[in-house]
Amino acid sequence: MGEGVLTTPFPRLDGELHAGGVPLSDLAERFGTPLYVYNLEHVEARYRAIEQAFRGVDHLTAYSVKANGSLAILNRLGRLGAGADIVSVGELHRARRAGIPPERIVFAGVGKTEAEMREALEAGIYAFNVESRGELSRLDAVASALRVAAPFAVRVNPDLISPSPHEYTRTGHAQTKFGVPVPETLELYRWARGRPWLRALGIDVHIGSQILEVTPYSEALSLVLDVERILRQEGDELEFVDIGGGYGIPYDGEPRLVMEDLAGVILPLVQSSGLRLVLEPGRFIVGEAGVFLTRVEYVKQVGSKWFVIVDGGMSELIRPSHYEAFHVVDPVVSPGPRPVELVDVVGPICETGDFLARRRPLELPEPGELLAVYTAGAYGFTMASNYNARCRPAETLVEGDRVHLVRRRETVEDLVRGESIPWSGIRGQGATS
Ligand SMILES: *Cc1c(COP(=O)(O)O)cnc(C)c1O
Repeated sequence: MGEGVLTTPFPRLDGELHAGGVPLSDLAERFGTPLYVYNLEHVEARYRAIEQAFRGVDHLTAYSVKANGSLAILNRLGRLGAGADIVSVGELHRARRAGIPPERIVFAGVGKTEAEMREALEAGIYAFNVESRGELSRLDAVASALRVAAPFAVRVNPDLISPSPHEYTRTGHAQTKFGVPVPETLELYRWARGRPWLRALGIDVHIGSQILEVTPYSEALSLVLDVERILRQEGDELEFVDIGGGYGIPYDGEPRLVMEDLAGVILPLVQSSGLRLVLEPGRFIVGEAGVFLTRVEYVKQVGSKWFVIVDGGMSELIRPSHYEAFHVVDPVVSPGPRPVELVDVVGPICETGDFLARRRPLELPEPGELLAVYTAGAYGFTMASNYNARCRPAETLVEGDRVHLVRRRETVEDLVRGESIPWSGIRGQGATS
C-alpha cells in the first residue's frame, strides 16, 4: 500500500473501505455506530509534511487542539515534536495530560478568564496570544499578583477578507471579534514596556480557516512584520512571529494547500526577519485522517424526495448544519448497481437543520448498511454534543492493522452525571448534595 495509504487514508479494497488494513465494517461491528475512525499514519504524514516544508527555519508547530483533541492523537503529535495551540483551560489540561510540554503551548482566544490566565502562567506556557487591550491589562494584573512574567504576543487583525468558504470561518477582517487593529497593536506593545511582569515575546496573526491560497498568508505576514519592524526600532526584541493556521484541505476534490507553496512565500519573509516561526495547523493535520461511520436506519420517500435516515446526525457532526460544509458520503461496501437518487442524508435529531448531506446523488442504500462520511477528522468529535440526550460516539484509531479504542462511547449514565433532583433524593452519578 505505501504511498496509497498516505494519499488515501481510507482506500477501497475489494469493494470495501478500509482504514489502514482494517475493513471499516469490522470497526462498526466491534464498536457500534455512529463511530469516528482516524488513520494515525495519515495524521503523522500530514504533520511531517509541515515539518519537511518548514525545516529551513527555527519553528514551533503548535497543533490546534480544537480541531481534534483526542489525547492519543495529541500524545502522538507531541512525541513527534508538536506543541499545542489552545483556546481554553480545558484544552491546556488536555495538551498537558497528553504530554505536550508547556513551553510548546500558545494560548489564543478572545475571552480568557483570570482563572485561565493563572493556570496557564503557573504551567509556564510559551505565550499568550492577546486579543484586546482589556485582555493585556488583565494579563498584567494576574502576572503581577503571581509575580510571574507573562510572555505575550498581540494577535493583529490584518483587516483582510480571507477567502474562507463560510462567513463563520473568516477571522481576519475588521468586523470579527478576533485580534487588534494595527494602530492599537502598537499602543499595546508600547504600554507593555512599562509593565515589569509583561514580556513582549512575539506577534501573531490568524486569518481564518480552510484557506486554499498562499497569498493571504504572505499578505498577513508582511503586515505583521512591518509592525514588528516598528517595534524593534522602538526597542522591543520579539522572538517569534505566529502565522496561525487555517491551511485548507480537500472536502470536494479541491486541491489541498501545498505546504511547499506556503513555505515558499513564508520562509523568505521569516528568514529576513530573523524571528522564530510559529504555525498553528489543525484541520490540515487531522481533517482527512478521519471518517464518520453511520448506519442507515430507514429510507423514506416523501413525494418525490428521498431521505436516507442514518443513526448519526448534527449532534455528532455539526459541520454540514453549522457551516453548510460539504462532506463526501459513500457506502462502506460497494452495493453493486442500484438506482441513483438525489437524497438528503439526515440524522435522527429533531431539527430540520439536522443533515449530513443534501440533494446528493447516492445509490439508494438499504436499512442496515453503512455509510462513511469523509474528511471528518477535524471539527467532528470536538463539536459533538449531547443534544436530544444522545451519547457521544466512540473514537477509534487505526495504525496499520492495529485498532485502538481511544474513547469509549458514552453511556446514558454519562448523560446524567453531575445532575440531581434536589427534592427527591434521586441523583445522577457523581453529584453531591
Ligand atoms: C482554529 C484556529 C486554528 C486552527 O485552524 P485550522 O483551520 O484547523 O487550521 C489556529 N489558530 C487559531 C487562533 C485558531 O482559532
